[in-house]
Amino acid sequence: MKHELSLPEVLSQIEKTVKPQFGKGQVADYIPELASVDPKKFGMAVRTVNGQEYVVGDGDEPFSAQSITKLFALGIALNRIGDEVWTRVGKEPSGTPFNYLSQLEHEAGFPRNPFINAGALAVVDMLLKGTRRPDLTVRDYMGFLCQSALTIDEAVARSEIDTAHKNRAIANLMKGAGTLHHEVEAVIAAYCRQCAITLSCRDLARAALPLAAGGFSPVIEETVFPTRQARRLNALLLTCGVYDSVGSFAYRVGLPAKSGVGGGIVAIVPGQAAIAVWSPELDRHGTSVVGFAALEAFSQITNCSVL
Ligand code: GLN
Repeated sequence: MKHELSLPEVLSQIEKTVKPQFGKGQVADYIPELASVDPKKFGMAVRTVNGQEYVVGDGDEPFSAQSITKLFALGIALNRIGDEVWTRVGKEPSGTPFNYLSQLEHEAGFPRNPFINAGALAVVDMLLKGTRRPDLTVRDYMGFLCQSALTIDEAVARSEIDTAHKNRAIANLMKGAGTLHHEVEAVIAAYCRQCAITLSCRDLARAALPLAAGGFSPVIEETVFPTRQARRLNALLLTCGVYDSVGSFAYRVGLPAKSGVGGGIVAIVPGQAAIAVWSPELDRHGTSVVGFAALEAFSQITNCSVL
């Protein structure tokens, strides 16, 4: 990252820059429990591979990780069964919203990638083989990577389990097509509980750091996956991490990233740093408006885009 300002200066400049973006998006309310989150929250954390860590705003406040957990669930599945994962889910950008249904009908229940809901349900299904509570496995893996005891927000989990009609439709379609092996309700419960894992921006930047460091975690000083896997996960993030807005995200930010409807986004600067940002108001693709703007400002100021 080549820039005149120090990282703390960059972050405080971004904090000021993004204020006008408040009010342009909407907090997710299709999961009723998420609707009560304060829309004006903003936090950001940067953790570099050489140990610098800076946090601004509400960057130490836990938020609902939601789809960001899909990245870590995929990491566990790849560690467990390797390339067999790709017999159950594709690697192509979907070009459709995260909870799109009809692609599955046209493509025999085979999800386009592991980050859309259908693909994430397939990954949960893979983890259910051999683990009764994959949500706890994902929680503990993320907690291990950031060295923090993470929790699952039971109210958020229950709220989504009670209202997950669209995800149940996706899971039923896959079950009918034979691409989901476990019972629909078991997969839905594990998926919703996984999505309800909470963590702060500081935790998230630490947990994602191996993706910036070739599979090595400078936080726990251990290699957690092979270098090749870090490169492949970054490729998937770049092409599928923000669903049907990957094009504009690459255009404006130029970094591999994963968003979640809790308002979090994690972005990777390969070889250098992991950045986590949180602000609950979402655009129509389910990506944080203020978080997106903050990452755009970050990549512009520091000139750190991979593109
Ligand atoms: N739990 C959410 C859902 O399935 C996750 C979506 C997201 O964060 N994009 O709808």
